Amino acid sequence: MRDNYYPALKHISKIANSFFGFRKICNSIAKSTTKTVHGDACCISLLNPQKEYLITVGAYGLSDLYLRKGPLDARKSLPEILDGKIVFIADATKDERVQHPEMAEAQGISSILGIPILRKGEVIGEIRIYTREPEEFSEADKSFLLSVADICAILLEKGELYLLEKDYKTSKRQINPQVAQLPTNAPRPAFAHPSEEEFAKLLDFYSIEWLYEPRSFPLHWEKDEVAEMFTPDFYLPELDLYVELTTLRQSLITEKNRKVRHLKELYPQINIKLLNKNDYIHLLAKYGYWPLGETKVEGIDRVLYSHTQIQRRVRVLAKRISRDYAGKKPVLVGILKGVTCFMSDLMQHLSLPITLDFMAISYYTSDGQVVKITKDLDSSITGQDVLMVEDIVDTGMTLNYVLKHLSAHKPASLRICTLLDKRARRLIDIPLDYVGFEISDEFVVGYGLDYRGEYRNLSFIGILHPELIEKDERVHHLS
Ligand code: 5GP
Repeated sequence: MRDNYYPALKHISKIANSFFGFRKICNSIAKSTTKTVHGDACCISLLNPQKEYLITVGAYGLSDLYLRKGPLDARKSLPEILDGKIVFIADATKDERVQHPEMAEAQGISSILGIPILRKGEVIGEIRIYTREPEEFSEADKSFLLSVADICAILLEKGELYLLEKDYKTSKRQINPQVAQLPTNAPRPAFAHPSEEEFAKLLDFYSIEWLYEPRSFPLHWEKDEVAEMFTPDFYLPELDLYVELTTLRQSLITEKNRKVRHLKELYPQINIKLLNKNDYIHLLAKYGYWPLGETKVEGIDRVLYSHTQIQRRVRVLAKRISRDYAGKKPVLVGILKGVTCFMSDLMQHLSLPITLDFMAISYYTSDGQVVKITKDLDSSITGQDVLMVEDIVDTGMTLNYVLKHLSAHKPASLRICTLLDKRARRLIDIPLDYVGFEISDEFVVGYGLDYRGEYRNLSFIGILHPELIEKDERVHHLS
């Protein structure tokens, strides 16, 4: 049971009763609610009077693309909520009660908890909590959420007026059912300017998903007709960020600055940046796509997982491990040297007491030498809960050898956690308990993984240019 419900409710009531604008209040409540129940995102929606569709009035942790999936059909999306019931969806990508499963998948949403907002016994809206990992919610969580729903009920009554009087025209325009599709092998768009193409290439290098000019924002209306629109060059769904590129002509920069400022005033929830070429790298670094300058990067074909993506995934694994080992004190065992970055980050996110040990082994070579342990564990693992932490499992031969060695010491339990799983090349199939990313058959470096002893210090995981790897060399023996 979490002990933070009371401070959270106190905070939420204060926000609800503040001078902030309606949307800011709803967004703040969504944020506070998400954090309190340890979810990843939240959406507060209002039902239209005919109970046909839901309009989002506040959200936290959801990308603009997800929010723009259009108004939800109240009868198709989690319909039991209309009967005043709490609904829990364990797997949003497969459950038919979810109206946009493809969007849920693209956002990495796993489970959804839906709470009705009741006003005098009648459903007027709902709160949804989203999680990236399948998450069970306690009765105490649900009871907390029902109290938040009560606060929202009072607020939404006010909000209904707000939507009708002030925001309705804009919100109607904003909710565009023509949702931009995520690019799935889509042909490259015709870019209006070479700098845009160059920026797209940079995003591709970093494996950052992008959409070119997916949405136009009305900026001015005359007699209810749109008189001026603004279409940012790119939208980056993962960062929930619009990007407008500038050339170096001052007259154009001034004009674009004006439009961006105006857009921010009209659509305060939109995250947009005006960039010139020199800003690219700084912007990307801010989002965890570190500059490549100081590290050894010649030979890197592209980034497979950015620093941010790795950190996010490591946190998810650590959460799961902490839950599974609750009340225990596991020994984390790593094999030097590739696992160093992963081990370091993983253990810092574990909310458990742990001990740490390392082994080193010689890798198989073509001269017929058998694999042997060059550094054994420092302490006994007999009767201990051992979690073997690996950087990458490829053929499975290394792991198989090490597991045999560890099992001979009779630990109480032995599980495996690997950051990368190159399943396609598996020769010995060993069940893996925790997997960061499943990758295809490509040689990766960075974040501890090396090629000829180098590249370990890259903060991301990248793919080497295939021509760099000499054909006659069995590269995976070099770590
Ligand atoms: P396995 O015995 O499963 O074939 O290989 C495991 C070891 O090979 C890993 O611990 C790692 O050292 C190395 N390895 C396998 N694939 C890769 C890769 O794509 N990149 C790097 N740097 N090492 C790899």
